[in-house]
Amino acid sequence: MSTNGKEKNVKLLILGSGPAGLSAALYGARAELAPVVLTGTQLGGQAALTFTIENYPGFPEGVGGAQLGELFQKQAEHFGATVEFDTAHEVDLSQRPFKVVTDNGEYKAGTLIITTGASPNHLRIEGETELTGRGVSYCATCDGWFFKDKKVVVVGGGDSALEEGLFITRYASSVTIVHRRDELRASPILQKRAREHPKVNFIWNTVVTEVIGGEKVEALRLKNVKTGEETIIETDGLFIFIGHKPNTEMFLGQLEMSDLGYITVNDKMETNVAGVYAAGEAADPHFRQVVTSAGMGAAAAIQATRFLEAETG
Ligand code: NAP
Repeated sequence: MSTNGKEKNVKLLILGSGPAGLSAALYGARAELAPVVLTGTQLGGQAALTFTIENYPGFPEGVGGAQLGELFQKQAEHFGATVEFDTAHEVDLSQRPFKVVTDNGEYKAGTLIITTGASPNHLRIEGETELTGRGVSYCATCDGWFFKDKKVVVVGGGDSALEEGLFITRYASSVTIVHRRDELRASPILQKRAREHPKVNFIWNTVVTEVIGGEKVEALRLKNVKTGEETIIETDGLFIFIGHKPNTEMFLGQLEMSDLGYITVNDKMETNVAGVYAAGEAADPHFRQVVTSAGMGAAAAIQATRFLEAETG
């Protein structure tokens, strides 16, 4: 890596430090590309906010999300990757080397792997923004502890809602899962655990339409989507797990993406711009697992290596 003032030239720049980014860094480092990883605002990505990951192979007892992220990082650094606590906020992909402007300076990158992940969706209802951090949360691992012996409502019917809801039972006196249908999307194993848990109960065919409170969350207005009936339930907390939106706004107009904002890649993780790859949740609307993101990241780095090798002959 050569440095010209605050501009740094790198062969491989990786945006994001989740499983995809750090796996790409491991493979890029072992290919002697001396990759630089820009962590983004969340070191370790969303996986690092998960209390226990039970489905990453090699850890039969499960592994802490943050711990797994640290192991990924350590392994990538061991082979020569550099992890920078920095965030990209502007890219120019119109010519190589690609220009990436960050909080701390500017990079010129021969190849770029985008693993910027995804952020939780919001309900966009009255009171939600005002009471975020005062009872409304999108992260059980971060905030579950604050609800010791308190009543909590969880919105969503997917893996996140059930997994996080079950996690909150460690602290809360009760966890009520409010779902807009009468059928869950979550995997059977999580459904079974949630249905059998004595602290968990369900309200079906129902949406939350308003968060009520002053200094903190006090109650929620609910609406039954079948009957239209409205009710108010008292609660101390509202956890929202209704899916994610890819963090790809920065690439709008420069990279092809789906209507939902997922970067379009082929089976080699190549985007429509030669030398730019995308992996993990920024490019994956289908699987979004730690293991699949890690696999995509590795594939992207292998392809970036081949691209650079073909160039130098
Ligand atoms: P998800 O699978 O997309 O589920 C989102 C849930 O929120 C759905 O039940 C959906 O209802 C509901 N929803 C969406 N918009 C809503 C709204 N405006 N109001 C009320 N409810 C709304 O998202 P996720 O649970 O975050 O999971 C994302 C991916 O990560 C999935 O592929 C999942 O398998 C994976 N994941 C896996 C694990 C694990 O393996 N342990 C853990 C967490 C996440 P409908 O069902 O009616 O659409």
